[in-house]
Amino acid sequence: MQQQSTPGFVNVRGAREHNLKNVDLQIPRDALVVFTGISGSGKSSLAFGTLYAEAQRRYLESVSPYARRLFHQMPVPEVDEVDGLPPAVALQQQRGTPTTRSSVGSVSTLSNLLRMLFSRAGDYPAGAPIIHAEGFSPNTPEGACSTCHGMGKIYDATEASMVPDPSLTIRERAVAAWPTAWQGQNYRDILTTLGYDVDKPWKDLPQKLRNWILFTEEQPTVPVYASFTLEEVKAALKRKEEPSYMGTFMGAKKYVMHTFANTQSAMMKKRAAQYMLSTTCPECHGKRLRRESLAVKFAGMDIGEMSAIPLKRLYELMGDRLKLSAAADKKHPEKALVVQRIATDLVARLQVMLELGLGYLSLERSTPTLSPGELQRLRLAVQVRSNLFGVVYVLDEPSAGLHPADTQALLRALDRLKAAGNSLFVVEHDLEVMRYADWIVDVGPLAGEKGGQILYSGKPEGLAKVRDSLTAGYLFHGTDQVHHQPRSASSEWLQLRGITRNNLNQLDADFPLRLFTAVTGVSGSGKSSLVSQALVELVSAHLGTTLPAEEEAPDLAEDKPETLGGRISGGMEHVKRLVLVDQKAIGRTPRSNLATYTGLFDHVRKLFAATPAAKKRKYDAGRFSFNMPKGRCENCNGEGFVMVELLFLPSVYAPCPVCHGSRYNAATLEIKYKDKSIAEILQLTVDDAHVFFQGDDAVHHSLHVLREVGLGYLRLGQPATELSGGEAQRIKLATELQRIGKGNTLYILDEPTTGLHPADVDKLMTQLNLLVDAGNTVIVVEHNMRVLAGSDWIIDIGPGAGEEGGKIVAQGTPADVAKSKHSKTAAFLAKYLS
Ligand code: ADP
Ligand code: ADP
Ligand code: ZN
Ligand code: ZN
Repeated sequence: MQQQSTPGFVNVRGAREHNLKNVDLQIPRDALVVFTGISGSGKSSLAFGTLYAEAQRRYLESVSPYARRLFHQMPVPEVDEVDGLPPAVALQQQRGTPTTRSSVGSVSTLSNLLRMLFSRAGDYPAGAPIIHAEGFSPNTPEGACSTCHGMGKIYDATEASMVPDPSLTIRERAVAAWPTAWQGQNYRDILTTLGYDVDKPWKDLPQKLRNWILFTEEQPTVPVYASFTLEEVKAALKRKEEPSYMGTFMGAKKYVMHTFANTQSAMMKKRAAQYMLSTTCPECHGKRLRRESLAVKFAGMDIGEMSAIPLKRLYELMGDRLKLSAAADKKHPEKALVVQRIATDLVARLQVMLELGLGYLSLERSTPTLSPGELQRLRLAVQVRSNLFGVVYVLDEPSAGLHPADTQALLRALDRLKAAGNSLFVVEHDLEVMRYADWIVDVGPLAGEKGGQILYSGKPEGLAKVRDSLTAGYLFHGTDQVHHQPRSASSEWLQLRGITRNNLNQLDADFPLRLFTAVTGVSGSGKSSLVSQALVELVSAHLGTTLPAEEEAPDLAEDKPETLGGRISGGMEHVKRLVLVDQKAIGRTPRSNLATYTGLFDHVRKLFAATPAAKKRKYDAGRFSFNMPKGRCENCNGEGFVMVELLFLPSVYAPCPVCHGSRYNAATLEIKYKDKSIAEILQLTVDDAHVFFQGDDAVHHSLHVLREVGLGYLRLGQPATELSGGEAQRIKLATELQRIGKGNTLYILDEPTTGLHPADVDKLMTQLNLLVDAGNTVIVVEHNMRVLAGSDWIIDIGPGAGEEGGKIVAQGTPADVAKSKHSKTAAFLAKYLS
């Protein structure tokens, strides 16, 4: 079907990216266009994979190859033609942790303004010279505190930090800070050559010797006789016997500090950090700036203090100064002018950030501690003030993390961008945002292969008549109403007392056991501080379990809140296990995938090993793993692709020419199970595999659960790196669901509905309710009113964000909370209760 190009519209012909079925469509410019459809239907493939990728491709064609390298390039989209497309800016949710370290102040550029203000309009001590703006930045040599080099903390390695268990001998790895494996043995053997007794407990060695091992700057090179005893080494030295090799020693502290400062590996850095102590810098008290810079004040505060106050207070303070400055600074008219200019700009920028519900953040807050939704809104605020026009902003679920009370403000910010002459393409699941759209593109009808069609593209009203659309039901036909009879209140409660952390101050909170509880409140009110931080840490401490180590790059103690006050005063006798189901990636390499993560691949490999052909060749289950040398392709080490370095372009990945992307060697691929090779199994979708493995109970059951959480469209071999946060979370949930039945488990989920269409949310709720019916407790942090309406108990935190939050405003059944006079949630919740 050939479409006419229509002015004022973006025309797309023949889009085939991922699962898109060669679709054509027209979407208006200068409008708020919302892309809807269930998870996996193809919304992102259209909005980001096609429209944004095409806009970026055209833009990059116009820049130099050198500049091109600096972009994170999207692959060239599978589409015949796109016309009428303006340049695009993508504000995608960053999944996982951003790699570069930045703060709210640097991302918003407000820190620059503040430095200019301090430099040119600050109050200097009498006689002090004017300091340049850079002198107020801890990241410049002019500004950085010389004691801590602008880090705010000093790091040190002590005997206690490097030798945690002094009853061990050196051979038993008393010096835990030393490297493991060969290098550690090397140091041990060098010490033997130097005459140390490596089989004496550390604490029995003389202090002088211990100090030398830990703190020496010397790096002697000596003959090493690998794995000789002290006596044997002495004899060998006497005989001038040929050593195994010459080894160079390094003191433990030197090793730790050197590794921490120089390693490229996040894991090594994290390991080194483990053996260091950090304390607040005594010179700058953590403010990271040199004394001269901190002596300059504005409105009675130094710039460090000003960076620590909430944006809302900063906004008020600048507003007050604006009113004052003209009158107060008669003596320094030029200073008054500077204040006027900079403060006006600050106030305008801050206002947008407050409107987007970010007033509780401070400038110094580091971006890795922000949720993906907060970061996206921060970047949106920068755009609203950027005065760009004629561009299309492509956004990914901007309502994520927002309470409905905050969503209104988000819509106003989007309106502003539109009024300035821009187009907005937004992937969304929030019904309020859909209702507000000028135009809806509904993708479906289902996910993966069963999706990829445009069910509707037009003004919202028209969607009502589209039969195949799941979205239409929720928007127009009452499917959005929730019918849930809350389970009767249990007599057992998990009781938290005196919780103090972030904005929570001595808060008491009771969570009913064996029920479904939703904790809600505006963004920044303290929900995550209470549930994902305090509750999780206290419960795991009680259970004596350590949480799975964070995969992220180390931040030492820096980003961790310093104080966790509070305790559990009752209810733990009914909690045997804690399970966190979050949106963190399930692995960072393509070596982890759906099948390996859920454990179902183990069963599949056993099925292959049990075939007569495999038995004849003595292939065991390990042979069918692409992570093991026996069965994998040697050329690509089982990765399926190889990296090709290009001179002026980013490196690209190409399918491995030997195994053609199958990851296995030819001999392994000869083994078939029911006519399919192991590589072909990994290509199956969960839905197809569910049919294929009929009769193999263990595999079949795992697949069944994956389908139940709405992931039937994923391929078994889908690499972890291609999964969205929401998909990763549902895979974790499915993995847990495979083993329910024990009861007494506490499940905690932080915003599980992010990335989910209302129809997916309903599926998720069914699964979570099964957990509760089996005697478990489920606690979710949520803004989704339909989840609240479907819960047994609600705890509403507020009333506001940051300093204005941190209290329990209302709690009870959904019907009770909907009646509360103080709760900001009540009115929104009432709409969905029937
Ligand atoms: P939505 O945004 O509606 O949730 P997506 O556009 O992300 O859906 O996905 C549509 C289909 O394309 C799904 O079957 C998904 O598994 C597949 N897909 C998404 N990203 C990739 C990718 N990088 N490579 C291959 N398939 C992908
Ligand atoms: P919610 O989950 O309701 O959005 P949070 O618990 O994340 O709220 O935040 C509550 C308050 O604590 C906010 O003022 C927020 O800025 C602050 N806060 C949260 N996490 C951190 C952190 N890692 N470092 C500093 N402040 C934090
Ligand atoms: Zn310092
Ligand atoms: Zn290969």
